[in-house]
Amino acid sequence: MNLNQELHEALGYCKHEPILGSQIWLITSNRMSFICSKCGERYTEDFCPDYVADPRLVIREMEKKGLRKRFLSSIGTTTNLDALGKMSSLIAIDTTGQLAQLALDWLRKEE
Ligand SMILES: [Zn+2]
Repeated sequence: MNLNQELHEALGYCKHEPILGSQIWLITSNRMSFICSKCGERYTEDFCPDYVADPRLVIREMEKKGLRKRFLSSIGTTTNLDALGKMSSLIAIDTTGQLAQLALDWLRKEE
């Protein structure tokens, strides 16, 4: 399982596993879709957001869960320039998954 899928699951979403034979080709979107054996939902192959490529999604998900401030303060306070520089890099520059990894580690520690 990759970092995106691990974080998605840690955020409380189903990590979907297909029912064998449930796949259908969606002509309109050019994608394969499946029915999940766990939650019964129909989903497409690319259901998992790319938190690595777009770290802003990590912050948005943390906000939805009411955890944004606590998570951000676990990385560092924005009252000094070093921390602000680190934070802006994690959110707006890095595309290697550093923020997604921090979120995953933090969520697992909070459980
Ligand atoms: Zn599911």
